[in-house]
Amino acid sequence: MNDYDSARLGDLLEGEGLASAGREHEADLVVLNTCHIREKASEKIYSELGRLAQIKRERRAEGRDLTIVVAGCVAQAEGELVLRRQPAVDVVVGPQSLQRLPELLRRAKRGAPQADTDFAVAEKFSGLPKPSAAQIAARGVSAFVTVQEGCDKFCSFCVVPFTRGAEVSRRVADVIAEARRLVQSGVREITLIGQNVNAYRGLDEAGRERPLELLFERLSEIEGLARLRYTTSHPVDMTQGLIDAHAALPKLAPFVHLPVQSGSDRVLREMNRRHGAQPYLDIAARLRAARPDIAISSDFIVGFPGETEEDFEATLALIRAVDFASTFSFKYSQRPGTPGAERADQIDEATKSARLARLQALVEAQRQAFNAATVGRTLDALFEKPGRHAGQIAGKTPYLQAVHARGDESLIGRVLPVKIIAAGPNSLAGEIVRAGEAA
Ligand code: SAM
Ligand code: SF4
Repeated sequence: MNDYDSARLGDLLEGEGLASAGREHEADLVVLNTCHIREKASEKIYSELGRLAQIKRERRAEGRDLTIVVAGCVAQAEGELVLRRQPAVDVVVGPQSLQRLPELLRRAKRGAPQADTDFAVAEKFSGLPKPSAAQIAARGVSAFVTVQEGCDKFCSFCVVPFTRGAEVSRRVADVIAEARRLVQSGVREITLIGQNVNAYRGLDEAGRERPLELLFERLSEIEGLARLRYTTSHPVDMTQGLIDAHAALPKLAPFVHLPVQSGSDRVLREMNRRHGAQPYLDIAARLRAARPDIAISSDFIVGFPGETEEDFEATLALIRAVDFASTFSFKYSQRPGTPGAERADQIDEATKSARLARLQALVEAQRQAFNAATVGRTLDALFEKPGRHAGQIAGKTPYLQAVHARGDESLIGRVLPVKIIAAGPNSLAGEIVRAGEAA
């Protein structure tokens, strides 16, 4: 989501006559688009700001300036505190008021640092400029489209409901129009994004609330759009309608990112995830029944307060039962203002690290096995860029695996069947199956 917001910020600033600087020391304006999800990401901002403040002092000694903007979720969570902690900052702007940046910059130029942390989300969707055809083409053949923002779930570890606000969905027609514009400029794959993308309930032309699968049906009709994805989904919003869309719509990639966080019913309850381990296993089974070649990925948190060895074993058992294609896993991080952070039974760092290592060894083995199992299969690859070696072209399989094959740049933007011949630790090697050859 920050990638998407950063691209929109780039479009907005280009509209103000700025151009992207090749290197930081050539820039007149630096925007840090920040993440507050874990403490590590959040604290990195201040060391980065200290460095930028030093550049600003040096510039000023030479009679030039450097404008510093802090955008995103740290800006939202800390607001004016950012200005107090680092006075070199000119503008602090939350993720839902990004569209106001030009005005905030003008006001800051008149002398007073500015902080805007309003939840102006409807204004954000309509107020951010549309990228030009050249901007779209420069960003490649795969694009994100935000369809939903914010979260009403309030998991007890998570800051998102506080930084991104309540769930809001974009209108169906607006999403379709944005997708059409992207496809007209060469985009072949669109990933619909949202904090809880499958909680999407956007209004259609008749003013009715429509679910995510309706978007996929409509988007499937766009000629030239080859592949659809979505992220991130919550298990409780994984409806049968959405599962059925995987069976009905060939353009919808057979890949679902479905975070579960833990395999212990007790921990899941205390996390306020609103489901247990078995319902998650049931969803995985229903997805596989709908689309037998589907792959599932997930997020895990180890060391949530009170997590026992038995709870952690239950997480490993769930991982063994589902067999994931890929995963993200994190040590629990205490986030200010969340219920988990207040608990007295925090898990010590050494236990968290040991559990993370055990979990990651298991999921890494599953990922490698998944990759190895694609050898010999023929998968459709969307080619995105030249490969690392001359005469090579690189793309992505439906499962988001990087794949390279012999071919030239004329293949960029094409989806072609590729016979996988080898699986390395981070990418696959394949051969394009030409028309007429046996797959
Ligand atoms: N909405 C998604 C869901 O419900 O799964 C997740 C969005 S969150 C931005 C991405 C991931 O960050 C989560 O799935 C979780 O694994 C991780 N995360 C969130 N808060 C965390 C915390 N306090 N400590 C560690 N990891 C955290
Ligand atoms: Fe955070 Fe996702 Fe839970 Fe919402 S559903 S609070 S975004 S982890």
